[in-house]
Amino acid sequence: MPKINLKALSKQEVESFIKESGLPAFRAKQLIHWIYERYACSIQDITEFSKDLRDALSDKAYISNHVLLDRQISKDGTEKFLFELEDKATIESVLISEEDRITLCISSQAGCALGCVFCLTGKLGLKRNLKAHEIIDQIINASRLILPRRITNIVFMGMGEPLLNFENVVDALWRITGLMKISPRRITVSTAGIVPKIKELAEKAPMVNLAISLNATTDKVRNYIMPVNKMYPLKKLLDACREFPIPPRRRITFEYVMLKGINDTLEDAKRLVNLLKGIPSKVNLIPFNPFENCEFKRPDDEAVLRFQQILVDGNVIALIRKSKGQDILAACGQLKAKYTYGRKI
Ligand code: SAH
Ligand code: SF4
Repeated sequence: MPKINLKALSKQEVESFIKESGLPAFRAKQLIHWIYERYACSIQDITEFSKDLRDALSDKAYISNHVLLDRQISKDGTEKFLFELEDKATIESVLISEEDRITLCISSQAGCALGCVFCLTGKLGLKRNLKAHEIIDQIINASRLILPRRITNIVFMGMGEPLLNFENVVDALWRITGLMKISPRRITVSTAGIVPKIKELAEKAPMVNLAISLNATTDKVRNYIMPVNKMYPLKKLLDACREFPIPPRRRITFEYVMLKGINDTLEDAKRLVNLLKGIPSKVNLIPFNPFENCEFKRPDDEAVLRFQQILVDGNVIALIRKSKGQDILAACGQLKAKYTYGRKI
């Protein structure tokens, strides 16, 4: 019989596994604690269990782990991890350290189907969805690697469109909040705008923060740079944001990648102020991070500042995101792990 991967089980499934193994219920609690809070790599790491118990469990079960293929550290301290999954697919996660927080940016899919023209992950196409435990294992592995530092925030802004891998992302969110005990206030799910799933996220997931990659203020431009807009145009997307239940003192984040001559005009800034009326929002302006053979340019600093000023004058909170980890290709939209099924890279 193939061994059971304990990390792939839900809490209830771990409890059933322990019961079926003839063990008392508290063993399930201990097992979950060791996997999600002490980052055990194997059953043999669980020193709270006797050697006999560890051996007995190891006969029928195991704890999977991503293999760390590469770890790069940028001049500004940003770190990029390249992980290999059990089927040899590879994904990337990025760790961003700021004064008061350490954020891990995680992937939800290997590649992405949505093909935004300014995004390197989009150029790859979709390889496959990640399973819930493959999403979580990025956090577990990174947490172990950076000890004694602690990850404080999680953003689903790595590779892939989280809302197109809905079931696994929701399952992961429940485990990240319930079993890893990271507060939903410290978790952000970013979407290119899969409108029906935005509502469903509010209904089915813990109350995490929502980020929308908006990136344009007219359907014409958005259709061009984000083809998903043809299916879910701006009005539908912003209506879904208006209906999204937002707890007090929280806001929806709107990501706005600034592309020179495409979406960076003063008219765009004015339109953006109008589009966001009635939505508790904040805007992150991200000057485009260029990559090889791309047709776009980042606007000059003054153009970004002028754009920001119009938003501020229109009472919209607007921050300019400094690119982190550019020298190791870890900045927004630059992730592009190599996919090698069956052979090492
Ligand atoms: N698919 C989801 C989650 C990925 S987040 C989404 O799009 O929201 C990736 C973020 O990086 C998005 O906000 C996207 O707009 C931004 N991005 C993509 N390519 C970029 C680039 N070359 N420069 C700057 N930001 C980029
Ligand atoms: Fe996919 Fe997001 Fe990149 Fe668009 S920006 S291609 S949705 S990962």
